[in-house]
Amino acid sequence: MEQPTPPQAPISPLDALRRICFLLERGRESSYRVDAFRKTIEAITLISDEELQERVEAGTLKQIKGIGDSSAAIIGQAVRGVLPAYLVSAEEKHGEPLTSGGAELYAALRGDLHAHSNWSDGGSPIEEMVLAAVELGQEWMALTDHSPRLTIANGLSRERLTDQLKRVEAINASLGDAFTLLKGIEVDIHLDGSLDQDEDMLEQLDVVTASIHSKLRQPSFEMTPRMVTAVRNPRTNVLAHCTGQLVTGGRGKRPPSQFDAEKVFRACLENDVAVEINSRPERCDPPDELIELARDLGCLFTIDSDAHAPGQLDMKSLGCERAERLGIAAERIVTTWPVEDVRAWAKG
Ligand SMILES: [Zn+2]
Ligand SMILES: [Zn+2]
Repeated sequence: MEQPTPPQAPISPLDALRRICFLLERGRESSYRVDAFRKTIEAITLISDEELQERVEAGTLKQIKGIGDSSAAIIGQAVRGVLPAYLVSAEEKHGEPLTSGGAELYAALRGDLHAHSNWSDGGSPIEEMVLAAVELGQEWMALTDHSPRLTIANGLSRERLTDQLKRVEAINASLGDAFTLLKGIEVDIHLDGSLDQDEDMLEQLDVVTASIHSKLRQPSFEMTPRMVTAVRNPRTNVLAHCTGQLVTGGRGKRPPSQFDAEKVFRACLENDVAVEINSRPERCDPPDELIELARDLGCLFTIDSDAHAPGQLDMKSLGCERAERLGIAAERIVTTWPVEDVRAWAKG
């Protein structure tokens, strides 16, 4: 992957707005503001360049639904060939690399095994996530929206997942060989360790990322077998944010779940399941000592963004910083592999 390069004038209004959204999401600014700009993007993709130009000159941009004061100023400056002031300040505030470490691993990353779209609780269409991944120099990405039981996150029913898989196929067909969107899911792990989607649906997917979102405070003697059962399921490929901890951020803090990590990671090793290093700053999951344990046992890892917006795809640099500091070799990180190897591993 590559750090995105700052844009220069002239820039199209669309590119300026997309870059601003990317920077605000990457900088974890309020989603309210980003949503407003994303609405503008939706609105202006339907309008010709000529009409935009005319409206800038006539001062009638704001008559279009989805264009407010800030958006109108950005569009006006871009149309006049000036780098929009909003973009310049967003670039100053959020354009720097997110970390100073992990650069070698970041450059070696090719993909992502955990990313959401607005089909579940993400904020952007699948196409916009893909475009951002391409711009970051990624080669592939698994779309892993939530499973049915997670109604709070608009989890996908069997029917909606079926529709999504058709959409993924259509997007892949339009992309050619340059990028691969893998069919995936972030499947909930039930209390008994079973997975929250029908077996025949899971079979249609390229990769299955499994995680726990309920009863995180179970005692270890219940949590450990729950996790081991999920890891032993032949469909499971990745164990995501395994402790469920939250270390900072708007959702408050949450301590890590209690489980026998050695037993769980041994099961991962025996079943060729990768342990996810979740890059979200509020998760920072697993904690260092558990990454070291999985490392010493010989587990595979993934460095995932768990992005819910395009700009968050770049958070993988935070996971890279941790993995490099903890001495995880690139070959053991599935998200540095070419897509054919990932497919073969996941089906193996
Ligand atoms: Zn999750
Ligand atoms: Zn997720």
